[in-house]
Amino acid sequence: MNVDDISRVTVLGAGNMGHGITEVAAIAGYHVTMRDIEQELVDDGYESIEWSLQKLSEKGLVEEDPDAVMDRIDTEVDLETAVSDADLVIEAAPEQMELKKEIFGDLDEFTPEGAILASNTSSLSITEIATATERPEQVVGMHFFNPPVKMDLVEVIYGAETSDETAEATYEFVESIGKTPIYVRKDVNGFVVNSVLGPFGDEAGWMVSEGAATIEEVDAAMVHRRGYPMGPFELGDLTGIDIGYHVRKEAGKDVPPVVQEKVDAGDLGQKTGKGYYDYEDGEGTTYEAGQGEDVDTLRIEARIVNEAAKLIGNDVATAEAIDTGMRLGAGFPEGPCRRADKLGLDTVLAKLEELYDEYGHERYEPSEHLRELVEAGHTGEDAGKGFYDYGGSDGERHYATIEHSLSEDGLLEITLDRPERLNALNQDLMDEVVHLLETTDVDDVRAVTFEGTGDRAFSAGADITGFAGIAPHEKDVTEFFRTVAEYPRPTLAKIDGFCLGGGHELALACDLRIATEGSEFGFPEINLGLIPGGGGTQRAIRMLSDARAKELVFRGERISAERAEEWGLINRAVSDEEFDETVEAFLDDLVGGAPIALRKAKQVMNAGRDQDIDAGLELEAQAFGLLLGTEDMQEGAAAFMEDREAEFEGK
Ligand code: NAD
Repeated sequence: MNVDDISRVTVLGAGNMGHGITEVAAIAGYHVTMRDIEQELVDDGYESIEWSLQKLSEKGLVEEDPDAVMDRIDTEVDLETAVSDADLVIEAAPEQMELKKEIFGDLDEFTPEGAILASNTSSLSITEIATATERPEQVVGMHFFNPPVKMDLVEVIYGAETSDETAEATYEFVESIGKTPIYVRKDVNGFVVNSVLGPFGDEAGWMVSEGAATIEEVDAAMVHRRGYPMGPFELGDLTGIDIGYHVRKEAGKDVPPVVQEKVDAGDLGQKTGKGYYDYEDGEGTTYEAGQGEDVDTLRIEARIVNEAAKLIGNDVATAEAIDTGMRLGAGFPEGPCRRADKLGLDTVLAKLEELYDEYGHERYEPSEHLRELVEAGHTGEDAGKGFYDYGGSDGERHYATIEHSLSEDGLLEITLDRPERLNALNQDLMDEVVHLLETTDVDDVRAVTFEGTGDRAFSAGADITGFAGIAPHEKDVTEFFRTVAEYPRPTLAKIDGFCLGGGHELALACDLRIATEGSEFGFPEINLGLIPGGGGTQRAIRMLSDARAKELVFRGERISAERAEEWGLINRAVSDEEFDETVEAFLDDLVGGAPIALRKAKQVMNAGRDQDIDAGLELEAQAFGLLLGTEDMQEGAAAFMEDREAEFEGK
């Protein structure tokens, strides 16, 4: 089965996950049959989808008419009818091995020969589920995160017998529904995300149990110093303390006393009104910034990194897959492998060894892979190589937050790739863009475009969590914006969605801006007690009228693409359908244009803007004179005479 052969999808279960998966697949254009064991249950699921689609549509996140999407969904109670012509079945029934085996046995009987049989299980063995069929090579794990409509990640899990063909088609299917897949090459307990997330709560539990820190201190430290969206105890309360407890018990692991106490007392978190914090009589979480200054956060992060290293060493997943998984699936501010490369793998190893010496417990035992990296001198970014290559030794630098491609004809496309944070700028992203622009041979580049991953944002701002723990005066964000603004080739921002704060400043640092009509522009900094710090105030006031620029900065309100165009902030606001075409038309001129002339035009216009007219005219005259002597100019003139397209070579 190839992804192109998948057109009919059946989802088993209309519960939490089942209805969400059905919705996502139907939005992407698939015909989906959703099956549950009783009509009432399928009806409930169907209604939940209707409600959710309505919301998405109101927010402009689904363009198609909700009714048209609903038309692609059938509901069914009879299993055989539901699956008899399915190309792909996604099982999202309750998490019980016996039930899943029974279902997969039936699927083996009722589905077409080539159908892919996927399970959305969070914790059960794909290998074992597959034993219920005669075609284990077509059984695969497809682990969505809750809620599927919002969460971008899907783990694609190999059972022992799963064929590459099945896994690849599944992976491509996930991409085709607009989600991000990662491969989990062996069905280890917890797969990737839950395995690596394990120590986050576990080590925090041990630290508090032994009195090394309080619950509030640990949560405050992880959130305010290390940038995690929630503290480990806060997260435990949200997901249910019993959930993590049972996973640990089943895996035969020790449970920290602080966790055991809560479970014994029946205080399981938000769902019971009380857990580590009190949600009934109290006000929920009570930790504050500044409370966790003395917490040894490396203790927790070293264990997380060790878990990641084990997975890499055992060929379960690559560092990239793990980092993508943790960013998208667990909301980590950056992947643990990337973070470890910054911390220094030797530092991480030393922390584990220290803990292992002190407690002698296997949970601190450094993984083979981590030891090997350190022994080989691959201790991270400073060494030029760690989990990733930074171009220090042999290979090319790995970028964690951007994607890029350079075409034959010289179009350098840069995609801001932090969809989980609406492509907000953080230090890594800015460093990586600067590195890319500085290390790509400028002679190979004719024009540069910037865009955001996904269809929600160009970039929604600067990621404040990424600045956690760094004093403001240490930040030099201006280098990034200056590098973009002064890049000697034309730059164009392709804006689809939010273009706010730092993202807006990046767009303004580009020469040209084209946006879809639904895009929004703004400088929300004032609402945080800040002002734009990446050149936004200065570029806006030079680009717009005084009043308009101040309106944007003072009020912190967003303006529509239409207004932005009217104000002259962007070149064009166009419909989604016209977007690519419009961008193409601009790029034709930029990429095919005379490179030296474009470079000079950019230079004198940028420099002249900030000087008086005489100085500006002088710059122009010099550039004009220089261009007269170029081969490009001769080619341009010849082509004009011969009535043909000029072929400029930048000479
Ligand atoms: P749920 O209880 O909300 O829904 C399960 C549904 O399956 C129920 O409506 C039930 O009636 C139905 N069902 C029972 N037997 C069935 C059968 N033979 N055929 C079709 N439907 C059947 O559970 P959920 O939270 O949606 O979880 C479903 C699966 O997804 C589980 O394996 C779970 O581990 C996994 N999962 C859950 C989450 C989560 O956060 N809830 C996240 C990822 C994966």
